[in-house]
Formats: sequence, C-alpha cells, structure tokens
Amino acid sequence: MPDPATPSGAPSRRSPLDLIPGLVTVAELMTDAVAVTDMQRRLIVWNTACDRLYGIPSTDALGRRIDDLYVSKITGEGTSSAGARTIALASGSWRGRVTDRPSIGRLAGQELVIETILSRIDGPDGRPIGIISVKRDVTAGVRVERELSTVISLATPSGESRNRHDAAEHALEVLVTTTGATMAGILMPGPDGGISVMAHRGMSPGALTAVTSAPWSVSPAFKAVVRIGRVVKGAVALLPMLPASRRALLESHVRTLVFVGLHRESQQIGVLALGWDLDDPVLPSDAVILLAASHIARCLENARLVEEIVQRAQGERKLVQRLRALDELTRVGGRATTIEEHAERSARLINTSLGASGTAYGLLAADGESYATINMADVRPTLAAWLAAARPDQRTAFRRWRNGEGPFLEPFEPGHATAETLALAREAGVTAYAAIPIRVETVVVGGIAAYFDRPFADLHLDRTTLERIATVVSISLENFRLRGRSLASEQRYRSIFEASPDPILIITPEGSVVDLNEAALRQYRADRTWLLGQQVTDLARFDLETVRTRAAALGIAQTFRTKAVGVRQDGGEFSAEVEIAAVELDGERRYLVRVRDLADQELLQAELVQAQKMEATGQLVSGVAHELNNPLAAILGFSELIRRDTALPEDLRHNADLLVEEAARTRRIVQNLLDFARQRPPERYPTSIRALVDSVLVLQSYSLGKGLIEAEVDIPDDLPTVDLDRSRLQQVLVNLTHNAIYAIRRGDGTRLRITASTEGPADAERVRVTVMDDGPGVAPENVEHLFEPFFTTKPPSDGTGLGLSVSYGIVASHGGELRYGPSALGRGAAFTFDLPVRAAATDAFPTTSAVLAAPVAPLTPPTPPIQSRRVLVLDDEESIRVFLEKALAALGYEPVVTSSGEEAVERAADGPYLAILCDHQMPGKSGVQVYDAIVAVEPALGGRFVMMSGDMVNPALSAFAASHGVTVLSKPFDLETLDRAIQGAGGVQPRG
Ligand code: ADP
Repeated sequence: MPDPATPSGAPSRRSPLDLIPGLVTVAELMTDAVAVTDMQRRLIVWNTACDRLYGIPSTDALGRRIDDLYVSKITGEGTSSAGARTIALASGSWRGRVTDRPSIGRLAGQELVIETILSRIDGPDGRPIGIISVKRDVTAGVRVERELSTVISLATPSGESRNRHDAAEHALEVLVTTTGATMAGILMPGPDGGISVMAHRGMSPGALTAVTSAPWSVSPAFKAVVRIGRVVKGAVALLPMLPASRRALLESHVRTLVFVGLHRESQQIGVLALGWDLDDPVLPSDAVILLAASHIARCLENARLVEEIVQRAQGERKLVQRLRALDELTRVGGRATTIEEHAERSARLINTSLGASGTAYGLLAADGESYATINMADVRPTLAAWLAAARPDQRTAFRRWRNGEGPFLEPFEPGHATAETLALAREAGVTAYAAIPIRVETVVVGGIAAYFDRPFADLHLDRTTLERIATVVSISLENFRLRGRSLASEQRYRSIFEASPDPILIITPEGSVVDLNEAALRQYRADRTWLLGQQVTDLARFDLETVRTRAAALGIAQTFRTKAVGVRQDGGEFSAEVEIAAVELDGERRYLVRVRDLADQELLQAELVQAQKMEATGQLVSGVAHELNNPLAAILGFSELIRRDTALPEDLRHNADLLVEEAARTRRIVQNLLDFARQRPPERYPTSIRALVDSVLVLQSYSLGKGLIEAEVDIPDDLPTVDLDRSRLQQVLVNLTHNAIYAIRRGDGTRLRITASTEGPADAERVRVTVMDDGPGVAPENVEHLFEPFFTTKPPSDGTGLGLSVSYGIVASHGGELRYGPSALGRGAAFTFDLPVRAAATDAFPTTSAVLAAPVAPLTPPTPPIQSRRVLVLDDEESIRVFLEKALAALGYEPVVTSSGEEAVERAADGPYLAILCDHQMPGKSGVQVYDAIVAVEPALGGRFVMMSGDMVNPALSAFAASHGVTVLSKPFDLETLDRAIQGAGGVQPRG
C-alpha cells in the first residue's frame, strides 16, 4: 500500500513499483523520455532520454518528488498538470501538452513544451500504484509556432496604437512574453546625435542612463546592425559595446543580448534590443528576429505616418483657423463702430492667426509718447499691467520700428531682453513675442505685441507672415478711419439735406417719395406722414411722359430742370421750377428733386440781377454815360443859350426848342441806362423785339466793329409786341450777345445772328428769340453747368459766371425758359428762349413811369462870400469850354477859361475867384490832381471847387467830393443848375 503521508524527496523509500520487474530496462530502451512516479509522485523511473530532455541526471531525479524537479502546467490553460494526473488516475490515461520549467539541472528556468501521455499503472489488486508518463520534446515546434504567432501579432499593433510610442510598447509586450526576454528596448537616434529610448521593458534606470548618454554614432552594437539582415547576439560580457553600457547591463543582470536594426527603405531608423538574465537562454532564430524587426519597423513607420497625418490634419485645421482669422482681419476695419472695439477685435484675430497665447494692440496718442488706445486679447494679467503702464517711447519695439525696422520675432532669453522683462515673461509663462508695427504712410502710429507660450524653436513664423499681418493691420486701421470719416460725412450730408432752404424730395424711379427735408414740409404745408410715400404725380402737375423719359436718360449726378405746378396738401397750387438729379443712394437709383417756388425764384433772380449789374455792367454804364454826357452837355447848353436870346427870330427859337427837347430825350436815355443799375419792380410793357434787339446792337456796336463781326438780324416785321420788362430783357440780350461776341473773337468766327419768330396757337402765342454765333461752341462736359451761377470758363478779368444764370432767371420770370443748343451756323452756340406774347396776370407789374435821377445836389461847404465874379474854367473839350464861356457870361460871371491843368494852376494865382469849374476826367492831369496843385498854392480855393463829371456813378469821385467838401456838377446840366452850383461853391445865397 502506498503511504500517502510519506514526505517527498526521500529516495531511500521503497515503492510498490519497484516490484514491477524490468520497468527500468524497458524505459531505457525507449527513445522517448519515460518517467514513472508512484502515488506519492516520487520518481521511480527516469530514463536517459528524460535526462536529456530536462537536463537533470537520473541520479538527481530518482526517488525525488516530481514537483521538486520542475513546475508543470498544462499548456495553453496555465493550470497545474496535477489535474492531468487526476484525470489519468481516474480514467486510465491523459494525453496533452504540458509546459515544464525545470527547477534544477542544466535547463533550470527554461520552458519546455512537452507532448505527454500519462497512463495509470494498476497493482495486482487492481488498485493504481503509479503513473507512467511518456514525453516527447515539442519545444522547437512550439517555438516556431509561437514565433510565427508573435510575428503575426507584431504586424497588427499599428491598428491599435495611436502613435509610435504605443506601437513600440505593444511590440515589446508581445516580444517579451513570447521570447521570455527579461529586458527589451527600442532605441532611436535622439536629438543632437544621442540615443533615445522609444519604449522599453525591464531596463533598469542605470541601464537607461548608460544607453542614452552615449552618442548614437559611437555605439559599436548599433553600428554592427546598420545593414539589413544582420543580427548580433551573445553574452553581454563578450559583445562589442561601450564599457559604460556593458557595466550598466551587467549590473541590472542582463547576461545575454540580441541586437537587430530597424530599417526603413534600407536606412537604419533604430535598434531593437532583447536581453535575458541567463547565460544560455533559448534565443529566437535569426530569421524570426529579422522578421520581427522588419514588422516592428513597419509598425513604427505606419504609426509615424499616422502621427504625421494626424498632425498635418491638426496643423491644417489650425492653419485654416489662422487663415480665417487673417481674412477676417482684412475686414475688421469696416465692422467696428468705435476704435476700442476695432482694437479689441484686431487683437483677438491677430492672436488666432499667429497662434499666440495673448496679443496686445496699441495706438499712439498724438504726442507719440503715450497710448490713445490699448486693447488686449488673452494677455496674462501681470504682463497686461506692465504693457499698459509702459510708455511706448521707452519700449524697444517702438525704438526699432522708428529706426526703420519692420516686424520682428524675439525670444525671451538673456541677451534678447532685460532681466526685468525676462522675469515678467517667465512669470507669465511666455517664451517669445512678435512685435508688429502699425504704420500709416510711413509713420508708426501704433504697434502689436503677440506673446507665445511655445518654445521659440517651434514658432515657425517667418518675417513675410509678420509683414503681411503688419500690412493688413495698417490697411484695416485706415479702413476703420475712412469708414469713420464717411459716416461723419454721411451725417454732414444729412444735415445739409435737412438744412437746405430748398425743398428737396427723394423719389424712386417709380415716382414715390422716400425721403424729404424740412423745407419740403414747409413748401407743401404738409406733415411728413402725408408726404412720405406720395406719388409725385399727386404732388405736381407736369408733362409726365417727357419728364419720365428725360429722367430715365440721366446719368448719375446729371440734372435737368423743368417747370411744374406744385399741389399742396390743402390742394393749393404754386408754380415751381423743378431740378431733377439722378443719384445713387445705398446702391439704388433715386432722384433728388429740388423744388423751387418761382415766387422765391424771382426774388433770388432779382438779387442776382442786381449783383451782376453792379459787377459786370457798371463799367459799361459809366463809360457810356461819360461818353454821351459830354456832347450832351454842350448840345443842351448851347440850345438853351440860343433860346435865351431875346433877339432870336421865331423860327430859330423853334429850332432851339426842338434841340433842347432832343437833348433832354437823349439825357433820358442815358438816365435809363443808369437806372438799369438800380433795383425796381419788374415792368410789363408791350415791346417790339426788333427795337430791343437794335438797341442792344447799338450798345455792342463798338465790340462788333472791333471784331469785324457781321451782325445779322432776322426778325419778321409782323412779329407781335411782347409784354416784358424792357431793361431786363435788354439785359438778357446784352448778356447773350456779349457771350457770342466773346466766343466769336476767341474762335475766329465772323457771324452773330439774332432771330425771332412766333410759335404756338393764337390764344397762347409765344415769341421765340435765338442768339447764335459761329464761335467754338460749348464743350459737352460744360453744357449741364451753363446756367449755374458763377460757372465760367473765362479768366477772372473777363467773366463772373453770372450772365447766363441771371438771363435764365429773367427769362423764367417772364414765363419762358432759356435753353442751349447747337448753332445753325454750322458751328458755335445758340441760346433760345420763348416768351408768352401776353403776360400772365400774375407776372405783370406795370409802373407809372421810371423816375429820372435828379442831378446830384451840390455840396455846399461854408465858403466866405467875396465880391469877385470871376470863375476859373478848366475843360479839355473845346465845345464845353466855348459853351461855358458863353453861359457864364450870360449868367453875369467873368469866366477865365483854360484847357490844361498846368495853365489852370498858373491862372489860379491871379485870383480872387468866386469858383473854379474843373472837369474831372481829362487826359494828362486829372481833376483831382489839379485840385491838389491849386490848393497847395491857394488853400482857400479848395472850398470853391466844382468838379464836373459825366460819370455820376463813379464811386471814387463821390468819395473825394464828400471828404474834401467839393461840389459835383453832373454833366449834362442846364444853366440854372450851373448857376446854383457856382453860387453854392462861392458861398453866395442862391438867387431867387
Ligand atoms: P461769363 O460770361 O461771365 O463766363 P456766363 O454765365 O454768361 O458767364 O457764361 C458762362 C459760360 O458759358 C462762359 O464762361 C462760357 O464758357 C459759356 N458760354 C456762354 N455763352 C457761350 C457762347 N456763345 N459760346 C461758347 N460758350 C459760351
């Protein structure tokens, strides 16, 4: 009976198996390993094959418990093989694979995979007395299987692993479990030519340090596996390696090593190292090592590619974000409403586009030494506080920019920044900054600082990028400011629109009112709600078709004018002149309609007429008056003298009367001409256009003659008279002919033509007058401006730009319209106007008669009376001298007549004189110079001066007379006036 309680390992004990004869002999004959254990698991038989298989001699094995020789597990299940024995005992046999790890002997620690058959041995009584096991070593076969599966599993890690490190870890895990290696590492060339450990298993800290502290290029082991297909393996003590590495490996119990290169496209990218703590471990075959290395290299490469793709995708996403930010930056100028908002947004966008960790945006104040605006995005508080406090002119960046440098990138490293800044940067966790100037033209107006928390080496920012951002930022600031200005100007325009004294409506092309100003409300006596949305056809009566066609043809900013009858909210009407301009508002075509109440228009035109009269015709008037008044004075004087002669025969007296009348009529014409310069209400007289035209040609005869211009007049005799204000219409014709003559003379023309004809039905008959020339005509770009006040192409000495506008107004006040068109003379200009033959009741203002201007009343300074009757006379015109000599004698004076200033001064010394009659305008010495010369010798004569002038509107003379107490005698004058003037100057009481 076996004794279950017998302790194992006692070889001396006997077993029932000993009784089976020949068991040992049989076992020895078998090539397979055969072992027999008794019920206490003690070894009874251990043949030579067993010795070979387990590395344990029979002397060491026999009599010992099997568990003392090796640890046995069922392969693939990990459970103890005791289970197999139990099955064998129960059922008679068990067949399977076990993994045994010898605890003693040559192969202690190695794993052996053994194909095993266990059979129960029954004793004579039928009860089990032991187990015989037949073993065959299948380790080699299993190893090949394992190796294959290892390699297969190595091929998959990249699918599971996110990155190279994970892939390397996974590969080592598989390798270690399948090869039984106690140490494994994947080593790659590190930065700066060193060695880095991508992943490892079981490497001691000492070994890690030793391996990584050596340069890649000097490691003999690594060099040995540079070529594909090389495997280096052997004892750590013998392998070529650096002494430090060897020492470190031995210290961490690595005794055997295998090295193989990891290659990509025949380039060594790393090394795979496996180590065992045994001197003679079962090493994988070279083929398998090479296969594993190639798989690992491929895995790593795959992982690297995946990594790169992921990185690129991330990079791309970031890049897209940055580009978007950059793009947005170009538009930010048009978005913000305040400069602070603009700065804020710009800072944020620059921060994103540069991938910075914080960005500040500062604009300089006018002094250039402080910030007007400083806004920040994500700048750490300490840094922000420092930035806000630092004066720009003390900052390096501003100094560099002002020295002409562009944007730059600078690390926070000693030598690149002050100690204070470095401390600040460290505290804020920033490593570098980009400094970007904001320039307008070339002047630095501000700057941007973008801070980075990545290592300086990782900032792939080139100068071009920074320069681009600098440009974009500058443009965007300009945009912002421009927009600010355009907003302001929009407001300005709005206020001009609102403040305009002219009623202005803005209408759509369909004719509905979309905007209007205060003046329009007043004009229409309406409220805003009524006017807005009204159709123009309800606001005015006009020729719809014509206006619509003309408006549609207008280019932007072009205008035209037309007449209309405005209709107020209360139904009341007013006649208006309407100016229509095409404009574009918010991208839409609109019409700006300016409505001028013609009642207002006439007032305005009257003012313009006045201004123009003073300005442009003043000289003409005074010139003509002067020229006419001299001869007139003589005629008038002589005829009066003749009439006074009591001895005169009756028929001669009658002639003299006629002469006086004729002279008086001429004087009236002159007065009329002067009256032309005075304001008075318009008149309406039935007027012959022919006569009007002739009078104008007479006025212009001098200019016509000088230019050798033929004036043609084509006016039918039966043309009806037209109700009009003669002087005003004459003014129009003067202006038109004046312009025509000017144009002809400038353009080598020769012809001036004035035509008149009747138009329209008998009950609304109109007369059309045209003044045309063959001058150069009007340049197309000037046509639309012709009637604008002060539009002129003439030099200042020649034109005021009032002629046509004034004429336009005058014609309009007569119910007509002055238009420009091409001349019928082949080239040149034609100005045409229509006038209603009969004035409308509203525009007729008949006056009784024009009041003739009285001769200027003599100024009478207090002059001491004297007894002399002598009067000194000076005039350059002989007829006047002769007349005055006779007239003065007739009036009882003693004339002393002279014809030159010198002579008069000479004779003045012969005094005393009651008065001095002196012509004002003379060639040589003027009247004023004579006055000065005489007064210099005889001061008392100053007050006795009477200055004769044909130019009564001469302002210089009036001023002189007033300041010197000199009497002015306006030519022509009658004897009575002459007498009064002399007596006044002589201090004599007027005769009754
Ligand atoms: P002014 O004569 O003082 O310039 P006007 O209002 O009379 O002012 O004329 C305005 C402008 O119209 C002139 O400067 C000239 O360019 C143009 N113009 C007027 N009449 C003629 C014409 N007959 N031929 C060519 N251009 C003319």
